[in-house]
Amino acid sequence: MYKNFIEHKGIIDMNIHEYQAKALLERFGVAVPKGIAAMSVDEAVAAVDELPGPLYVVKAQIHAGGRGAGHFTDNPTGKGGVRLCKSAEDVKAAAEAMVGKVLVTKQTGPEGKEVQRLYVTDGVDIEKEYYCSVLLDRETGRVTFMVSTEGGMDIEEVAEKTPEKIVKTSIDPATGMSGFHARKLAFALGLSGNAVKSAVKFFMNLYKCFIELDASIVEINPMILVNDEVMALDAKMNFDENALFRHADVAALRDETEEDPNEKIAKDWELSYVRLDGNIGCMVNGAGLAMSTMDIIKLYGGEPANFLDVGGGATKERVTTAFKIILSDPNVEGILVNIFGGIMRCDVIAEGVIAAAKEVNLNVPLVVRLEGTNVEQGKKLIAESGLDVISANDLDDAARKVVDATKGANKAA
Ligand code: GDP
Ligand code: MG
Repeated sequence: MYKNFIEHKGIIDMNIHEYQAKALLERFGVAVPKGIAAMSVDEAVAAVDELPGPLYVVKAQIHAGGRGAGHFTDNPTGKGGVRLCKSAEDVKAAAEAMVGKVLVTKQTGPEGKEVQRLYVTDGVDIEKEYYCSVLLDRETGRVTFMVSTEGGMDIEEVAEKTPEKIVKTSIDPATGMSGFHARKLAFALGLSGNAVKSAVKFFMNLYKCFIELDASIVEINPMILVNDEVMALDAKMNFDENALFRHADVAALRDETEEDPNEKIAKDWELSYVRLDGNIGCMVNGAGLAMSTMDIIKLYGGEPANFLDVGGGATKERVTTAFKIILSDPNVEGILVNIFGGIMRCDVIAEGVIAAAKEVNLNVPLVVRLEGTNVEQGKKLIAESGLDVISANDLDDAARKVVDATKGANKAA
C-alpha cells in the first residue's frame, strides 16, 4: 500500500512530459531521436516538414507511461497513444485521433487522461530495445542504475517474473560515476564494439543529468540500439520538489493540467495529501499517526482512500479545506478523523470539521477520534453541532467503527 504513497508523483516529485525530458537529456549529451512538440493537429502536420522521414511517430504527451499499449475512450479497440506514420496524412489522422481525446493506459487508471500535447518524432529503425533507469535506491541510500535486456516492457513485470534480468549498479556519492560503472552496465546488456563506447557516453551523461538537475528518477524505456548508437526512445523524468528552487527552468516545465487538482489545492494550503485506492477518507495530524491510521484501517479489513496530514499548525480554514478534499473523492464512503491535539488543539479541529460538514452536505458516516489538548471542548462542540458523528475513544475503536460504518454503506448501496 505504501508503494503508492512513496512512489506517488506530485507531492514528493514533479513530473514532466516526454518531450521536455528529452530536451533536458539532450542538453547533457544524451542521444534522442529528433522530435517536435505540437499543441494541435496543424502543428503536428507542420512538424513533418522539419523531420527527415520517411517514418514518423506521433506520441501522446501525458504524465503516464504505457501509451503505446493504451487505448482512447472513444475507440476502445483502436490503436494507442504511440503511432508509427509514413506520411503527413498518416500524421494528421493519428493527431486527430489523439488531441482532445482521453487516453487510458495501465498507469492512468480507468478514468484516463486527456491528451493536450503531442510529440512528433523521427521514426527510428530499432535494432534492439533495452531498459535503463537511474533512481535513488532507498535501501542503499545511493543513486542506482537499473538496466535490463528486457526493454519496452513493463519493468515491474520483469522484476516479478525474471528478476535475474535486471542488473543494478549503485554509485558511491563521494566518488561519483566512472567509466568502470558505465562499462559494467554496457557489458551486462551484452553490448560490444562501438556500441559499448556509445553506451558508456550515454550512461555517463545520463548520470550527470540526473545529479545536476536534482532528478528523483530518470527512466528510459526503451533505450535503443541503432547502428551501434545507443539512444533514448522514451523518457520519463521526475524531480525532487524540495530542490526545484535551484532549477527555475525545470520548475517552469510543470504542467498543472496533468496534476490532480486536489493535490494542488492541498499544496497551496500546505496539507500533505496523497490519493489512494480505498474508500475510507482519513484526516490525521502527523505523518506517523497517518501511517498507523492507515495500518489499523487495513487491519480491520478496510482500505484507506487517502493519506492526509493536516500538520501541527492547522487553522479552521485549513481543516475545512482538508475535509472538502476528502469528500470530493467519489470513492469515499466514510471518513475517519483521527487527531492528537498537541500543538493542534482539538477544538480547532472540531470547528473545522463542523464548518466543512455543514458546507459540503456530509452524506457519509463520520467517525471522530480526538485526543490531547482541549479534547473536552472539541468533543462538546461536535456533540452540540447537531451533526451525525460517531465518536470513538481510541485508535482501535475508531478504526473498527469506520470500517463497520462503511460496510453498512456498501450493503445499503
Ligand atoms: P510508452 O508506450 O508510453 O512507453 O511509449 P514509448 O515511447 O516507449 O513507445 C512504445 C513503443 O513504441 C516502443 O517500445 C517501440 O516499440 C515503439 N516505438 C516508439 N517509437 C518508435 C520508433 O521511432 N520506431 C519504431 N520502430 N518503434 C517505435
Ligand atoms: Mg516507454
